Amino acid sequence: MAKKHEIQFLVEQIYQTYHELEDGAVADYIPQLSLANPEHFGISVLSAKGNFFEYGDTNQLFTIQSMSKPLVYGMVLEIFGKQEVEKKIDIEPSGEAFNSIELQPQTNRPYNPMVNAGAITATGMLFNKYGKDSIDFILEKFSQAAGRNLEIDMEVYHSESSTGHRNRAIAYLLLNFDMIPDYVVQILEIYFAQCSILVNCHDLATISATIANLGENPQTKKEVFSIDAIKDMLSVMYTCGLYDNTGRWVNEVGIPAKSGVSGGIFGVVNRQLGIATYSPKLDFFGNSSRGIAAFRMLSKELGLHAFDCMNSGSNFLSTLLK
Ligand code: GLN
Repeated sequence: MAKKHEIQFLVEQIYQTYHELEDGAVADYIPQLSLANPEHFGISVLSAKGNFFEYGDTNQLFTIQSMSKPLVYGMVLEIFGKQEVEKKIDIEPSGEAFNSIELQPQTNRPYNPMVNAGAITATGMLFNKYGKDSIDFILEKFSQAAGRNLEIDMEVYHSESSTGHRNRAIAYLLLNFDMIPDYVVQILEIYFAQCSILVNCHDLATISATIANLGENPQTKKEVFSIDAIKDMLSVMYTCGLYDNTGRWVNEVGIPAKSGVSGGIFGVVNRQLGIATYSPKLDFFGNSSRGIAAFRMLSKELGLHAFDCMNSGSNFLSTLLK
């Protein structure tokens, strides 16, 4: 059974094992993202009981990008309820890239809230309720989950806004099928801004530990998400969180998670741990290469896979992390 200092040791060992892994390339389709330092690598783990284990560049800020998607999905679930949300966003893996310009052929809904079409639709639902103030509500919710006041990186925001024509194509397709209201420009600006919220590994681990802790931030003790929303957020993260590489991720890592093109990944071990990694070089699917390797090793060493036959993760964590 692992002891506290053994987890810290393991986190450092994972860093040492993979900090020279050079696979992949920094995203450049949003020009500002290409400026990230490819050498950065951070790993943060926070238990649902409030213990931190961290190593590397865990204070380095980066934009949340697609990792905003499950959080905004949680917000619309809380506001509109599951039934209303499912009328506009399904929960099926698409098997396509995150930015594919495609809706379900029978229903014209986006496949799920983890691809851009589904995420833009979720932002559109928020817009229906809060209009241009939606971004303030998003910032407020993300800040509660992270336990500190988060800000938008205006340079990344402008960079994506001036080049995000593919997302414009997706949004107009959504408008054509009445999936978003006729405020395409405004909704996209909110979507670009939500993707440009700055976090570091420490924040991301706190956000994931808040989800692991059934919606209550383990540091501030504030309830951020409802239990019902958490269940649906985690389900879709498990089936769709790593883009079209989710099947392999679930097979090898077995933790509900979400990645972003900035190079972050956060994973949630239900009721036990929030885990976050950051390293900007991405693999073919758009997931951080070092992040995937780190999660794989952490999951294996601590027995965190949901179907690990030893279930040693639950064992050691429930006794250790009180
Ligand atoms: N803002 C990015 C986009 O819409 C988010 C994508 C991602 O992180 N996969 O293209």
